Amino acid sequence: MYRPDLEAGTVDAIRDRQLTRLNALLREVLPANRFYQAKLGDCLAPLSWEEFRRLPFTTKQELVADQAMHPPLGNIATYEPKRYKTYHQTSGTTGRPLIVLDTRESWDWWSECWNYVYHAAGVTPSDRIFFAFSFGPYIGFWSAFEGARRLGALTIPGGGLDSLSRLELMRRNRPTVLLSTPTYAIRLVEIAEEQGQSLQELGVRVTIHAGEPGASIPAVRSRVEHAFGSLSFDHAGGTEVGAYGYSCEARDGVHVNEEEFIAEVIDPLTGEQVIEGNLGELLITNLGRAGWPVIRYRTGDIVMFGGSGCACGRTFLKLPGGLLGRVDDLMIVRGVNIYPSSVEAIVRTFKVGEFRLVRTLQLGMEELTVEIEAHQDVAHLLADRLRQRLGVRIPTRVVSAGSLPRFELKAKRVIDRRKQPANVEVETKV
Ligand SMILES: [Zn+2]
Repeated sequence: MYRPDLEAGTVDAIRDRQLTRLNALLREVLPANRFYQAKLGDCLAPLSWEEFRRLPFTTKQELVADQAMHPPLGNIATYEPKRYKTYHQTSGTTGRPLIVLDTRESWDWWSECWNYVYHAAGVTPSDRIFFAFSFGPYIGFWSAFEGARRLGALTIPGGGLDSLSRLELMRRNRPTVLLSTPTYAIRLVEIAEEQGQSLQELGVRVTIHAGEPGASIPAVRSRVEHAFGSLSFDHAGGTEVGAYGYSCEARDGVHVNEEEFIAEVIDPLTGEQVIEGNLGELLITNLGRAGWPVIRYRTGDIVMFGGSGCACGRTFLKLPGGLLGRVDDLMIVRGVNIYPSSVEAIVRTFKVGEFRLVRTLQLGMEELTVEIEAHQDVAHLLADRLRQRLGVRIPTRVVSAGSLPRFELKAKRVIDRRKQPANVEVETKV
């Protein structure tokens, strides 16, 4: 553990520290932050937990609207522009990108949060970490890179290269740790298989996966681990909130870093807190980013609200299975609630190339089809298993190998054709 005194503290001690830090944050933010002044009105620190849980939620739409109304930074920026030192933005796949700036202090805070991730994965200053990503304006891997520098490990940037060049760079430098999206790790596995190369010869002993969920899905993890001869760890975070989640040696989901964040899980429809063992939407309050704070932020991620016990000894909140899907991605097929991650978990138990889920409407009812790059026999077995495990019939369709899109950052494997007539095949751009 990075901070055993905190990570394995009593739940009461964790809650006390969270409340103290929350109130310190509010005292810093409220006099200057016009976004939260308008939102929270005459709310005055110190707050009790009951008062905190009555504060309104913050949404992505509000932040985007705030920035559009008050360009370029929005009222969410607590300080004057010159205090900010690092620029990032969200990918903007669902609309206008959101600009997110950090001060020197909050950028240090990001790297501090990554230290929890690295320690939990057993990464040390003697490791050599390869970053397989494009070094664009998105925050995820930049913060991981900064965290690795703070840890004191050797950082090897893998940007601006195609996959074969990346593999060659890895072969020459023998990194011990790989950071990538889970999708990209599987892409490297495929490429190595095509080339008849062994990834085990690279000497990677740990892979850490960020940018999208997937590394908590056992079948995804075992494919990567088997190919690399490594152990895979999950990480959860977001541009708006910070690097809040990490998997421990139990690797059955992620812990929330409750020293730096407050996590809540609510029913996305009613806004009520769910009880332990239930699914809901994750809310995050970040405690160390006064320059760009979010309070009770609706992440849109579906998680299971776990408890505080774990085989690793940590008492930080557990989210079993990691991020299980997006609130927006919930599909209701003949009355059965289905998240894409549940389908992916089943697809990945078979040897398939890429796959995607195609949503259509048939006589006004939602239908789901799984397109896979695999043999017809595999498609039949997969359809059987989907019916057994999800309790609803989901047809599978074989497509030719290599015909589905490949992804480096965030995979988009759900194609929504519900607004098109079902009998017209239209290639959707992804
Ligand atoms: Zn644990």
